[in-house]
Amino acid sequence: MAWQEIGDRVFTRKYPFFNQQIGVVLGGRDVLVVDTRSTPAQAREIASELRDLTRDPVSIVVDTHWHFDHSFGNSVFRPATIWGHVRAAEQLRREGAATIEEVAAEIPEIAADIRETVIDPPERTFEDRATVHVGDRVVELSYHGRAHTDGDIVLVVSDANVMFAGDLLEEGAPPSFGDSFPLEWPATVEQLIPLATGAVVPGHGAIGDRAFVEHQLAAFRRLAELARAVHERRLEIEAAVSGSPFGPNTPRTAFERALAQIRGELD
Ligand SMILES: [Zn+2]
Repeated sequence: MAWQEIGDRVFTRKYPFFNQQIGVVLGGRDVLVVDTRSTPAQAREIASELRDLTRDPVSIVVDTHWHFDHSFGNSVFRPATIWGHVRAAEQLRREGAATIEEVAAEIPEIAADIRETVIDPPERTFEDRATVHVGDRVVELSYHGRAHTDGDIVLVVSDANVMFAGDLLEEGAPPSFGDSFPLEWPATVEQLIPLATGAVVPGHGAIGDRAFVEHQLAAFRRLAELARAVHERRLEIEAAVSGSPFGPNTPRTAFERALAQIRGELD
């Protein structure tokens, strides 16, 4: 694996751990990193591999959302400024410490490393949109509604036709639904279509394009339909899971969260 230039001075690197995509945007002396991986050790790996691209330090970090695999490396890049959605920062502050222990128990191979995490939430937060200057160029951050979490943002580097979509889009595995809003996910992804003018970088898996976004959108719509059928007792939840557009490995949580939303329990 190595850095791949997917647009002018826009790079991605796919890490085998979680099949995760990390992004980099270079402009002038600025270095922007998209997501910081699961532990300080993993973040230090990004920092040292960045030496292949630039000698300048990371000056800007953007967390696409609060989940540990996207934000627990944040502290390694200080004194960089860190951007994220206002609710992503809140969630990280509220859930960060407990998440360290949950993940340490679930994934023993990173237990020691994740316990070194210093929870370091974004301080440059916003609700709907923000503009970040990376040297001579501009990166637009925007929020489009609840979906994978209640604070997922996308980055658009329009001079390079690249969109980083975080875990709003996932390739190669079903999306993660643990604290998701499955009924709103389709409307959120629909808004990404006009932004997908070139490469589309998911949080995990292979890089796609607008057709990939449209394909995922159809799948999220189908999942919501299946959940409504379960709610209306036209379908058993097991049949919905095995017939899921994301494949038979789709977690049952996807439907449990959707049903909770239909019942108004997540508002
Ligand atoms: Zn996530």
